[in-house]
Amino acid sequence: MNLGLKGRVVIVTGAASGIGKQIALAYAKEGATLALADINLDGLKKLKKEIKDVDVYVEKVDVTDAENCAAFVKNVVKKFKKIDVLVNNAGTAKMGDMETFPETTFRAHAELMMFAPVRLTNLCIPHFKKNGWGSVVNIASIFGKQPGGLISYDTIKAADIMITKDYSSYCAPFNVNVNSVCPGPVDTPLWHADGQLGDQLASATGMKRDEAIDWFAKANIPMGRYAKPEEIASAVVFLSSEPAHYITGVALNVDGGMVKSTL
Ligand code: NAD
Repeated sequence: MNLGLKGRVVIVTGAASGIGKQIALAYAKEGATLALADINLDGLKKLKKEIKDVDVYVEKVDVTDAENCAAFVKNVVKKFKKIDVLVNNAGTAKMGDMETFPETTFRAHAELMMFAPVRLTNLCIPHFKKNGWGSVVNIASIFGKQPGGLISYDTIKAADIMITKDYSSYCAPFNVNVNSVCPGPVDTPLWHADGQLGDQLASATGMKRDEAIDWFAKANIPMGRYAKPEEIASAVVFLSSEPAHYITGVALNVDGGMVKSTL
């Protein structure tokens, strides 16, 4: 299938690691031009070296900083003359006790995973209008549909699904589709790095990190394993492709069957 992404200018946030990195690599395979943002500039530079045959612009961007986002979008347009696709992927997660979960962390998570996608979408809309075409993909989570026990994360990912829905209606007249991808657990540093979810699950269950991750997968995911980040990337690339442009406002589960609802 020709996805019609050759020469499209694609912004990916949180591209230095995990899902974002695989999203960038998947777009590169389709011949898209890449504008990659992350707070981890070394990771971006390493990724840029891996990508051949397409133009790649990388910039250290903290998506929670409004001025930083505005400057980034301006730099992308200066360099590539347009923006076609925005993938709001930068994020994090933290387990915690419901009664004592710090409000400061909750607010920081909202800045990162709720306000940043809104801000970047608003910054890109004028450029989509100019093109007469555009596509936004927000990386939400199945925990935005059913609770995963992570209070800030579940709440904010649910908001991302609604933000997607609202923007899909708003942007449709400009020929812009807006969708969410809702991954179940994915094998990325968010689970496997020190101090991250794998360790947090290990301390809650009294198991070792890998043992806890494996137990969680077998107990909760019908396919019995976490997703590979490439499996999330392929859904993202498809939703922003030409053949999928009529699909808008959906929240697509990529979860090995974990969500039981038909919605
Ligand atoms: P990851 O930790 O591997 O990557 C996250 C990236 O975001 C990192 O490169 C990090 O530097 C970047 N980032 C963090 N704060 C930033 C900021 N302020 N500005 C710019 N960049 C920033 O995690 P991942 O698993 O690849 O997660 C990517 C997205 O997928 C997140 O939104 C996450 O919530 C979502 N998600 C992950 C899973 C999973 O199980 N891994 C499941 C569902 C959804």
